[in-house]
Amino acid sequence: MRLRSTSSESSQPLSRRSALHEKPLRCSRFGPGTEGATYDRPVPSPDPAIPPRTILVIEDEPGIVDFLEQGLRAHGYQVVSAGDGDRGLELALGGAADLVVLDMMLPGRDGLEVLGELERGRPALPVIILTALGEVEQRVTGLDAGAVDYLTKPFSLQELAARIRAQLRVAEQAPSTTLRSAGLEINLLAREVRRDGELLRLTTTEFELLVYLLRHRGRVLSREQILRAVWGYEHDPGTNVVDVYIGYLRRKLGVPGHPVPITTVRSVGYRFDEP
Ligand code: CA
Repeated sequence: MRLRSTSSESSQPLSRRSALHEKPLRCSRFGPGTEGATYDRPVPSPDPAIPPRTILVIEDEPGIVDFLEQGLRAHGYQVVSAGDGDRGLELALGGAADLVVLDMMLPGRDGLEVLGELERGRPALPVIILTALGEVEQRVTGLDAGAVDYLTKPFSLQELAARIRAQLRVAEQAPSTTLRSAGLEINLLAREVRRDGELLRLTTTEFELLVYLLRHRGRVLSREQILRAVWGYEHDPGTNVVDVYIGYLRRKLGVPGHPVPITTVRSVGYRFDEP
């Protein structure tokens, strides 16, 4: 078995390094041709002040799944895994992950199909493609389909961990793309509104009005404020366009027994109540 190392002590025989380090050595590279046979030092413990982030691994090769589960846990991540595209998609859409590591050749939905569904359902979720398909076209196709980065097998765990850290940082800095309140979920990128998962059809103006109300929820907003923010110009002060559109929203967003929590504040305007 061929042994390689990514550490600075790579010139030493493995047996000597094992003797030097009491803790077990960890496999750091996996893929065809490497037989999982390279090692480096254990990584330091994660900072307990940082809540663990969850990585979803969608991969059908059990050896790689084991390798990623152990390696990413050692880097301080929680790991969930799925052995096929359908299960992986279900977990990802269910909100189980902060980042996805996605194999391309999968049983069920393949990697590209999973990417397409995630672009529609959770466009802000970062996805790193992990694939044996090294050709430029395949990578470009994956990136075009919404992946943020890719690694080709064989890959180094250290490199994957570094890319995961980078993508989680980007995701944290990005402004939130989803607003949630009162059973409503508004996807600002896809411009979609769902109530308890069901897609609702809103016009552009209704959508803008809802987003404005939600972004200022808990605050009383005057009709003039709403007019300027949503319609963008000074209206005839006598206009009732705000009231008309609030009426549309109430009809479209409410269900019997669960009205949308938009309160009329007498002689002032409206307030979206925080449930
Ligand atoms: Ca595969």
